[in-house]
Amino acid sequence: MIIFGTRGYLYQLAVLTLVCGWCGNPAAHTLRKRVTKFTLFFVPLFPFSTKYATQCTFCGGEQKIPKEQADQLLAQHLASQDGNPFGQAQQPGYAQGGQNPYQN
Ligand SMILES: [Zn+2]
Repeated sequence: MIIFGTRGYLYQLAVLTLVCGWCGNPAAHTLRKRVTKFTLFFVPLFPFSTKYATQCTFCGGEQKIPKEQADQLLAQHLASQDGNPFGQAQQPGYAQGGQNPYQN
């Protein structure tokens, strides 16, 4: 007797700010990947279906997107994280060569 079936896995890849196609608000969206795996004797063997979707955190509307678009959104998201706004060293605010008011 062979027991086989499928099992779904849900991965949250990123949280993106997008204009929602449902409510029209520029709201945070979760980018999610749903992988369905073929299982044999309850052991997941290989994925046979991978689907991507964004879900609006404002209205809960979900929109299925193709893998290419998901990859693009993820790449943009990762690129936007590279520029670290806190990474630049703060220059000390001391004035160099300023006049000394007490020199007399
Ligand atoms: Zn929405």
